[in-house]
Amino acid sequence: MTLFFSGKTRCAICGRSIGERADAAQLSNVDPRLVPEFSTLAGSFVHRRCWDEWSEAGRLAEQAYQLVRTGSSRDPTVVAVFASERLVVLLVRATQVWLWQDFLLAVRVEIPVSRIAAVAKALMTDTSEVVQVGPVDWHVRADANGVTVVLMRAREAVERFVVPADRLLLWQGVLQSHE
Ligand SMILES: [Zn+2]
Repeated sequence: MTLFFSGKTRCAICGRSIGERADAAQLSNVDPRLVPEFSTLAGSFVHRRCWDEWSEAGRLAEQAYQLVRTGSSRDPTVVAVFASERLVVLLVRATQVWLWQDFLLAVRVEIPVSRIAAVAKALMTDTSEVVQVGPVDWHVRADANGVTVVLMRAREAVERFVVPADRLLLWQGVLQSHE
């Protein structure tokens, strides 16, 4: 596992240091036999801004999505809840937690099954909401472009990402169909 060091860890796309963890996304694994050019990027941190603007982001997202989708079908410890449009949601049987992986947004979050309805409600907000999701508080704020989600752990922002309006419809649909 790659560790993050504020102000030291370098963005795998632009090469500059990343100020804080909440500004970063962590890249997923890909199959190095299929895309050897991406193999050294697995687990790397990047600025979210760089990820959003990177011309190769779509291709890496697709490869990472395919790897998890096919791998999960052979993994008896998980149940595939949803796998389409570069979004994979897996139920971890032992812990009853959803592993929510949006490869397009480079977002990987955990949602206990008991909190699905609360997250669904928060993501429907047209102002702002705070919802406790396991050990993390989700601060959700809506604007014209979609919602901004800040994940706080012990009063520290550990993740910050935007779910654009069109992507938000997909998220809401998956959450609501399993409440
Ligand atoms: Zn960067």
